[in-house]
Amino acid sequence: MVLVVEDEAALSDVVQAYLAKAGYATAGARSGLEAVERVRALSPDVIILDLGLPDLDGLEVLRRIRAFSDCYVLITTARSEEVDRLVGLSVGADDYLTKPFSVRELVARVHAVLRRPRVESGIASSGTVLTFGALEIDATAQEVRLAGRPLPLTPIERGLLMTLSHSPGQAFSRRQLMEIVWGDSWVGDDHLVDVHIANLRRKLDETAEYPRFVITVRGIGYRMGKG
Ligand code: CA
Repeated sequence: MVLVVEDEAALSDVVQAYLAKAGYATAGARSGLEAVERVRALSPDVIILDLGLPDLDGLEVLRRIRAFSDCYVLITTARSEEVDRLVGLSVGADDYLTKPFSVRELVARVHAVLRRPRVESGIASSGTVLTFGALEIDATAQEVRLAGRPLPLTPIERGLLMTLSHSPGQAFSRRQLMEIVWGDSWVGDDHLVDVHIANLRRKLDETAEYPRFVITVRGIGYRMGKG
């Protein structure tokens, strides 16, 4: 899923149409605050972020997003002289495009960042591979494999699984998981955790009724199962 953060409606529509044609699911946000909310709700793989937004500056948006997400970010800006400065600042973006840009070029850049190996600041960084039955969690490679097959997890799903698996005896409350995975700046509905756990379970090929890996602990939250 690609989130297009752009206040010019016509440009946002064209970009989303091209991305859709290239096979990507898309969503749009017209302001900085909406962008932060949508990243939390949708966990996109890539964000195309316009720096000139009506409410927050794009860099402030990026700072807020980076508190809880390690998704790819491609910055677009009308200020060409800005790009060198941003690259020097290492603001945490993966690529930059100067406006006006060719939409075809933008789609090519999205393909390219998704192929790039990710060096993450990971939640867990132990060098070991943890094994729970058929599930392998490789914190160094930030990869999760089920029966040898890599699972395409979102950063939030991976964060939840990394957190649970690194303290397998411990039950975590929803609030604890939010603080660890989303960052302590987040105040909101604990049930967002349940939504992401449900998605994670689907990818792990298990249900809440018959869990192998993510066990519900009544009255508390979740803990890791033996697999
Ligand atoms: Ca703009």
